[in-house]
Amino acid sequence: MSIIVVGSTAFDDIETPKGKRKRIIGGSCIYFSLAACFKSKPKIVSVVGKDFSKKIFDKLNKKNIDTEGLVVANGKTFSWGGKYKSISEDPETKFTNLNVFENFKPSIPDSYVRNNKIIFLANIDPDLQNNVLDSMKKKKFIGLDTMNFWILSKRKSLDRALNKIDLLTINELELSLISNKKSFKKSIQYIFNNYPIKYLIVKKGSAGSILATKKSFKWIPCFPFANMTDPTGAGDSFAGGLFSFLEKSKKIDENSICLGMIYGSAIASFTIESFGINKIMNLKSNELNLRFNELKKISKIL
Ligand code: AMP
Repeated sequence: MSIIVVGSTAFDDIETPKGKRKRIIGGSCIYFSLAACFKSKPKIVSVVGKDFSKKIFDKLNKKNIDTEGLVVANGKTFSWGGKYKSISEDPETKFTNLNVFENFKPSIPDSYVRNNKIIFLANIDPDLQNNVLDSMKKKKFIGLDTMNFWILSKRKSLDRALNKIDLLTINELELSLISNKKSFKKSIQYIFNNYPIKYLIVKKGSAGSILATKKSFKWIPCFPFANMTDPTGAGDSFAGGLFSFLEKSKKIDENSICLGMIYGSAIASFTIESFGINKIMNLKSNELNLRFNELKKISKIL
């Protein structure tokens, strides 16, 4: 079994109150797969330019991550710059250079499709998310993430994708942009009234995350003792942890999603303790399991 993840691979320029880094490796599918590889064999569909070091492919492969669908195209790798005024706020985007993504058409290698039951459409152009959805022959469990850049620039295409997925993960600001409503509860209702989505996960930063269905709400805290350095990739690594957990679960239901969210929160709490992928790249399974168990205990009220 495996998870296919379609998303961005990037060079990021990041500034937080803890410091600055230029051209470090990032992108939604890189964070996702580094988080998912503890339980699963994630299969990346993405594109980089000729300026991207091949050494990182080897590092990903050593971590059980399949890069057959990570295409090297002529041109420059996607790049993004973000500045966090405070660690707990959303970043201000300084620049987004789509570069090789402008002409990219994702194609899923045949080897990826065998035995696959879960696809995650990480934050990427909704046109590309639709290309993947349109190419799928068999029913899969599909998750999707997006961000303000795409909500504002490609709403129609995003709406088309939102009509075909099972689980949506977004943050509170993105939710209010989609719903155009100020009330959190009304924004959640808007999603269920307008799209056939079964599960909505709203990421609330240091306030944890909410799982909403048409009938219920569950709240999952984040790990409260992380040494926050750079929040970039927290959402993608949360999703990677969650989806790898679901892949190993007998059933995908509210219970397995809640436990998967705790597991995803535990991984995300490591991601934010260093700039870029540094910490998550070197994370050991036993460190992760310890934190997962600690967070499970913290989450339990009765
Ligand atoms: P997050 O988990 O939301 O912090 O995602 C951070 C990653 O998203 C960064 O490594 C960026 O390279 C990537 N990113 C930023 N803007 C975009 C965009 N418009 N499309 C796809 N990926 C992006």
